[in-house]
Amino acid sequence: MNVSEFRKRGKEMVDYMANYLEGIEGRQVYPDVEPGYLRPLIPPTAPQEPDTYEDIISDIEKIIMPGVTHWHSPYFFAYFPTASSYPAMLADMLCGAIGCIGFSWAASPACTELETVMMDWLGKMLELPEAFLAGKSGEGGGVIQGSASEATLVALLAARTKVTRQLQADSPELTQAAIMEKLVAYSSDQVVATLGTTTCCSFDNLLEVGPICNKGNLWLHIDAAYAGSAFICPEFRHLLNGVEFADSFNFNPHKWLLVNFDCSAMWVKKRTDLTGAFKLDPLYLKHSHESSGLITDYRHWQLPLGRRFRSLKMWFVFRIYGVKGLQAHIRKHVRLAHEFESLVLQDPRFEICAEVILGLVCFRLKGSNKLNEALLQRIGSAKKIHLVPCHLRDKFVLRFAICSRTVELAHVQLAWEHIRELASDLLRAEKE
Ligand SMILES: *Cc1c(COP(=O)(O)O)cnc(C)c1O
Repeated sequence: MNVSEFRKRGKEMVDYMANYLEGIEGRQVYPDVEPGYLRPLIPPTAPQEPDTYEDIISDIEKIIMPGVTHWHSPYFFAYFPTASSYPAMLADMLCGAIGCIGFSWAASPACTELETVMMDWLGKMLELPEAFLAGKSGEGGGVIQGSASEATLVALLAARTKVTRQLQADSPELTQAAIMEKLVAYSSDQVVATLGTTTCCSFDNLLEVGPICNKGNLWLHIDAAYAGSAFICPEFRHLLNGVEFADSFNFNPHKWLLVNFDCSAMWVKKRTDLTGAFKLDPLYLKHSHESSGLITDYRHWQLPLGRRFRSLKMWFVFRIYGVKGLQAHIRKHVRLAHEFESLVLQDPRFEICAEVILGLVCFRLKGSNKLNEALLQRIGSAKKIHLVPCHLRDKFVLRFAICSRTVELAHVQLAWEHIRELASDLLRAEKE
């Protein structure tokens, strides 16, 4: 493909993307395919001679789209949202064109420096304590990880290194192996200290956990993967109180802040805790500005060496929406969750199973787990909407998460009418 064809195809692709997203409501949210559907549809090996671009494009609707779950459909209520916005997609196109691997400052200074500043912007939006910000000379700072899981692992490894070095400094006779054997990580059944758990969006009490961790010199990592985005709204910021006790904090702008996957924001109070754990300095990665304290080499803040220019997405989104636009997005989703909650409460056959704090509603038919499993089965077979269940203690519960950027009250009402009808059919069948 030469540059003139790229110009043409690029414009066509943008039109295809816009048409796809504009018309997504017309597509069935969950696909009809069975496992293994795709292999028979494409050749067993890559082509020896090139295919044409037209061939590829025509295969998109034939082969790919029939197997796509449409996460951005306004009838998608499963899991948690994954962010999608036009400015983020445009920034990702530019990221692809620049195509740098920003492992060190020198490997692409803009990639590193924009990330540091965007993480400060975002930290300020959340009113994170000053200690987490990089500023011009701070000890803390932010880094974009690929996922909340990675951030948790990075925090765990940093904590392990830190405590091992402390113990070895106090008792030089201790071997690393002897220390490792004795290390303990405390967690609940939701993993680490969490703000907005995946099952029901509940919140750990940081004001209780935090001081205990600080007193015992334990590393406290906080996972707010979904809920974190809401803290940019003053009315939800109190949910973050206690973050001042944490060593590291993480949430996913790629869930609820309109920055397309992947973009997981992680802050630490002491950047040296991370760089101390991961630092690796072969000669070919050294650069001539080494002596300057301003240099950040993000490879020391993460597991991989390579990294994409992901802060471009944040920069585009934050500027196009403004903080007010982002707050409006969060508030709309929370409002719709409460609308759904009140619909559920109006039907005495149903119950709400956890307090609705943000954009997730956990609900069920009053009755057995079997009954609720059967209801979910009917919802799944009808494929008009998509949602997933969870277990709350021993109860089988349906999760209704407000997800799509374009979802409106009418979609939520239609979804509820649909659920009610299926429930009526089910209860009638149970009686017969
Ligand atoms: C979604 C979620 C995760 C997992 O996020 P990844 O970025 O996919 O690793 C972890 N914790 C919570 C509370 C979540 O909601």
